[in-house]
Amino acid sequence: MKVDLLELKEDRIAFILSGVTAAFANGIRRACLSEVPILAIDELAIYENTSVLFDEQIALRMGLIPIQTNDLDIFSLPEECQCGENGCPGCRVDFMLSAEGPRMVYSRDIQFQDPDIRPALEEIPIVILSEGEKVVIEGFASMRRGRDHSKWNSGTLCGYKNLPLIEIDACNGCAKCVQVCPRKVLAIEENRVKAVNPVDCSLCKLCIDACEARAIKVKPILDSFVLTIECAGSISSRDLVVRATQEIKKRAKAFDTKLGELF
Ligand code: SF4
Ligand code: SF4
Ligand SMILES: [Zn+2]
Repeated sequence: MKVDLLELKEDRIAFILSGVTAAFANGIRRACLSEVPILAIDELAIYENTSVLFDEQIALRMGLIPIQTNDLDIFSLPEECQCGENGCPGCRVDFMLSAEGPRMVYSRDIQFQDPDIRPALEEIPIVILSEGEKVVIEGFASMRRGRDHSKWNSGTLCGYKNLPLIEIDACNGCAKCVQVCPRKVLAIEENRVKAVNPVDCSLCKLCIDACEARAIKVKPILDSFVLTIECAGSISSRDLVVRATQEIKKRAKAFDTKLGELF
């Protein structure tokens, strides 16, 4: 297996994974989407809400706010916590939100008990309050996985595609393929077409249809994939991929142990 990094930003990572099956690449994609535990607002009690929004709408908005922490590893999943799912600082963090209009209530107004915990983005609007309107809410955030509820989805846009192989033979430099390519993959250099940006090719094959000389071939490399992973904001894209692969490894080990018990 070989990994070639294409792009690394806080919220997005792209890399080429070679020498693996489609199932393996898809396993990493799926683990990034919904198998990495993160924090999200789990339960809340609304003591006062005189805004125009129903309690349920406010609860839904608050649940979808990505939450960051300095050290995610100090939290456990509730079912793995020593408190036996009763709730303790090891598996949940309490918060309070109190605001009075006129003003917009933003994610930054949520005050977590632990100063190391905060919303990933400060200016996510929750509700607009007019003169005299008020909200008083308290609750807690806990660690779970995206498969429990989409508010715990650690990844957002996670996808993969086969790495394309573009072969050019007896090209006459007519540039018809360059004109039809929607991804700007091709360019004319020294009277011949060249694949200047093959990673962006979507394998749409419009260039093949446009080439009267039948000089261009595009096909997928079956054991190489381009993975693009975007995170929801709770953890960095790099951390997300590392934790996703650790999750896969953990389960493979558990499966191996079970097999060992059977045979
Ligand atoms: S297959 Fe589509 S995206 Fe790829 S080079 Fe041809 S026209 Fe461009
Ligand atoms: S359409 Fe065919 S001949 Fe024309 S530039 Fe593209 S590959 Fe070359
Ligand atoms: Zn606990």
